[in-house]
Amino acid sequence: LIDPRYIRDRIRTVPDWPQSGVQFRDITPLLQDPKTFRVLVDCFVHRYMDHDIDVVAGVDARGFILGAVIAYELNRGFVPVRKKGKLPFDTVAEEYELEYGSATVELHADAVKPGDRVLLIDDLVATGGTMIAAARLIQRLGAVVSEAAAIVDLPELGGSTLVREQGIPLFTLCHFA
Ligand code: 5GP
Repeated sequence: LIDPRYIRDRIRTVPDWPQSGVQFRDITPLLQDPKTFRVLVDCFVHRYMDHDIDVVAGVDARGFILGAVIAYELNRGFVPVRKKGKLPFDTVAEEYELEYGSATVELHADAVKPGDRVLLIDDLVATGGTMIAAARLIQRLGAVVSEAAAIVDLPELGGSTLVREQGIPLFTLCHFA
């Protein structure tokens, strides 16, 4: 098993992006370096290869990169949770609050079936709003979020606690306090 510091030390922190006061945790260096990318994906694949999972759902947009590779390695299908207005077929939608305003995520109505056990992947949990909204889409279609997983948790923002309070198991590789 990999030391969480191996991942954490390779995440780039960009101050004041996208706005003043925000420390953006940039995970692109993890993808760019071939060895790190392999270690990153393997962390999730090793955890989930023994789990009972039917399908992997990835959240727009960094959750697509990670989720698709994990799904492929687990020999499962991949379904995208997208930002509003991007999916062409029938959708279910969930709106959630942001610091300023709101956002909406959507899932194709046939992306998961009732009873499916879904692994939900994003890159980072901040306030938890995105992960909870994505989980609700899955649950509204009658499926079960087997686990939600991300590379990074920002525990001081309280999102990971909120996700778990919703009864959604959450796994993250590292955190920034
Ligand atoms: P939340 O909904 O938990 O507040 O925010 C998490 C979502 O916003 C995730 O989809 C994530 O990609 C994005 N996000 C918010 N802050 C950061 C950050 O510092 N780094 C990265 N990589 N993504 C972030």
